[in-house]
Amino acid sequence: MKKNIIILPLIISIILFILSLQLKFSIHNFDSSKVVKNIKSFSSSKYQGRLAGTLENDQVALTLKGFLEQEKLKPFKGNFYDGFTTDVPNRIEGNPFLTVTDSLGNVIKEFEYGIDYKEDMLNFKTNSITFNKTDEIALKDSNLQAGKNSKYYLFYVPHNNTFAFRSSFINDSVHDMYIMITDKTLADLKEYITEGYNVNCFVPFDVENKKLNNVAGFIQGVDPLAPPIVISSHFDHVGTDLQGNTYGGALDNASGTAFVMELIKYLKSIGKPERNILFIFFNAEELGCKGSTHFATEYSDYLKESKILNIDMIGSNNNLPLSIMGGKKDTIDTPLVKELSLLCSKNNIRYSNLFEDSSDHEAFRDLNIDAVTFCDYDITKIHTPNDKVDYINTKSIDTCFKVVASELITYAYGDNYFLIHNNNILRYSCISSIILSLIFLGFLFMKSEKKVNQNLASFLKINKSKNNFYSK
Ligand SMILES: [Zn+2]
Repeated sequence: MKKNIIILPLIISIILFILSLQLKFSIHNFDSSKVVKNIKSFSSSKYQGRLAGTLENDQVALTLKGFLEQEKLKPFKGNFYDGFTTDVPNRIEGNPFLTVTDSLGNVIKEFEYGIDYKEDMLNFKTNSITFNKTDEIALKDSNLQAGKNSKYYLFYVPHNNTFAFRSSFINDSVHDMYIMITDKTLADLKEYITEGYNVNCFVPFDVENKKLNNVAGFIQGVDPLAPPIVISSHFDHVGTDLQGNTYGGALDNASGTAFVMELIKYLKSIGKPERNILFIFFNAEELGCKGSTHFATEYSDYLKESKILNIDMIGSNNNLPLSIMGGKKDTIDTPLVKELSLLCSKNNIRYSNLFEDSSDHEAFRDLNIDAVTFCDYDITKIHTPNDKVDYINTKSIDTCFKVVASELITYAYGDNYFLIHNNNILRYSCISSIILSLIFLGFLFMKSEKKVNQNLASFLKINKSKNNFYSK
């Protein structure tokens, strides 16, 4: 009876130990150093800032498609590409100039590109102008607006008087062309215009309507008809300038792209989910969330009950709380925002709530589909050449993983007890197996000792009776 009391829990402990050990080895542990490795690759000069419409942007799309194929995901559309067309900024032949000329065409002043002026990518509906004081001119403290032939041009002094920041391209922006200038250039231009000179400006960009691709695949769930959960990130960024500076976009958003890739490897290893998990790498976020707007609109019926977890800028080294970003119309009581905030509180994760339409969740919120963006709201380097992998920190990547994985396990893996607690099960089953084995061995040892003693006693008893017999 005593032996059974030990053997049964010992067998259970050993089985639990073996099962959790097996699970441990079959799981691809989320490795943030691999995320950093991919951030490094996507933000390198090889991909030239991944501007939508460029060859390098196509190459990233192809790399992501290849990755989904390699991980054996199912294509959301025929070949993982979800195509759409939109306006993109397009580099054309020629060199930029900003000059001042007199009425005979003599050049009075030639400003230097990158030092005195530089294009802003906001729009290139037009790319050249010659104007003077007879045109519609509005002179302000920090800008100069010139209107000609119903087109409007803005020459403005950016924040901090530097040209480091490169804007997103917005094809319905107010002005037709934007030029950044220093405050010195602004003062000079004002003077030349007042004196009756002509100002001439050209930047070698125009706008082209192009076909772009989102990249989308999914892990099929047990119930493919259940509303899916969607994990997304945008892979494009703002390209290069005419001086050859690459805007690598390590944080924005090579980080989210690389994060989703590593998350896919982890999820693929933990078994079949209960519902479909969709992964979408959006294109053209930096052109006004064009990829996500297309996707949300095109598949709104399929997505209406789903949850979208978008990842945009994860891995800041500025020790920020994880931002759970809802749309402008959301509040802390919006169900998905509330649910994820509670999840963070429960896991002692530092978070903040943010409500802005400044990433790919916007298009889904406009259609009342649950969506948030996870983000390290660090705007100190983004959209500048300084957004480099050197400033990426794995700690906040791991934090984001903890939250996203918990939400996924709850929502797509039915709160699987083994997935959540496997490490503890492994630890405790190992300890209890050792303790119970020792008790069992002790018990066996005591039992065999008792048997030896009994044998010895009976041996002595026999010998004693033999001796008695002989002595008789
Ligand atoms: Zn972004």
